[in-house]
Amino acid sequence: MSPFRPVAWITHPACLRHGAGQNHPECPQRLQVIEERLRQKGLLDFMQQIEAPAATVEQLLRVHDRAHVERVLHADTTHGPFWHDPDTAQDADTLEAVLHAAGAGVKAVDLVLSGQAGFAFCAVRPPGHHAERGRAMGFCFFNSVAVAAAHAMAQGLERIAILDFDVHYGNGTANIFAGDERVVLYSTYQNPLYPYWQSPGIDNLVDVSLPPHSGSAQFRAAVSKHWIPRMLEQKPQLILVSAGFDAHAEDPLAGLQFSYEDYAWVAGQIQDVAEACCPGRVVATLEGGYSLHALARCVEQFLQPFVTAT
Ligand SMILES: [Zn+2]
Repeated sequence: MSPFRPVAWITHPACLRHGAGQNHPECPQRLQVIEERLRQKGLLDFMQQIEAPAATVEQLLRVHDRAHVERVLHADTTHGPFWHDPDTAQDADTLEAVLHAAGAGVKAVDLVLSGQAGFAFCAVRPPGHHAERGRAMGFCFFNSVAVAAAHAMAQGLERIAILDFDVHYGNGTANIFAGDERVVLYSTYQNPLYPYWQSPGIDNLVDVSLPPHSGSAQFRAAVSKHWIPRMLEQKPQLILVSAGFDAHAEDPLAGLQFSYEDYAWVAGQIQDVAEACCPGRVVATLEGGYSLHALARCVEQFLQPFVTAT
C-alpha cells in the first residue's frame, strides 16, 4: 500500500487558445474532450487543480539556444501565422500557450520534489517533444518535458528518466539530452514514421522502434524487456513522461494498434518503478493523440491507476 500522495492536474486557459491552423489535428478540442471525460468519470474530483505559470526565459534557455527562444518570443504574427515548418504555425495566441505548457512542467516538478504531489499531469498543448535545442518542428515550439527535466537538474537531481510512448519519436528530447548521462530517454515509437528517426546507438537513448501494426503484445514486451530493467539499474530520482496517445488503434495519424488497457498497464509499470526508486515521483505531460474519441479515453486509462493509488 503506497502512502497517500496527492495528484495534481496542471493546465492553463491559454492552452485552449493556440490555434495551430485550420483543420489542424492538434486542435483545442483535444484538451476539452479530455477534461469533459475526466469530469464525467469523477476523476478530476480526486486531483488538485492548479493553474500553470509561464516558464521564464531562464528556464527555457536551459534546453534551447537563445536564437530559437528569441524567434518564438518575437515572431511577427500580426498579419497571420508565422510558419516554423509546414506543420508548425505560430499564431497570436501561441506564445502564451507554449510558455504555460512549459511552465506546467516546471510547476509539476516543484510540486513532486517538495512532496506536495506524488503524481502530476500537465494537461497542456501544444506538445513539445519534437522541439529541438535550436528549432520548432512537428507541432512543437518549446520542449516542455525537457524544460521540466532541466528544472529538476537545476534543483540538484542527477538521475532522471524520461519515458516517451508517443507514436512519433521524441527527436527534440533526444537532440537536447543525447550524451547527457544524468538523463535516460526511454522510447517506443513507430518506425518508419515522422520524424524518421535513425537510432544513433547512444547509451542514454533507449530506443525501441515498432513496425506498423504493432499492438499491445509488442508494446508490453518492449517496455518489460528494454525499459524496466534499465530503469531499475538507473534508479531515477524522478520519472517524467512524454504522454502521447497517438499509438492507439483509432488514431488517424499513425499505424500502431495500442489498446485502451495498454495505457493503464504502462501507468502501473511506471508506478511500480517509481515506488521502488523515487518515492512515487512521476510527472506526465501531454504530447500527441489526435482521435478525439480515443484520446479522452486513453488519458482516463492512464490516469486511473495514479488516482486510485491515492
Ligand atoms: Zn505523436
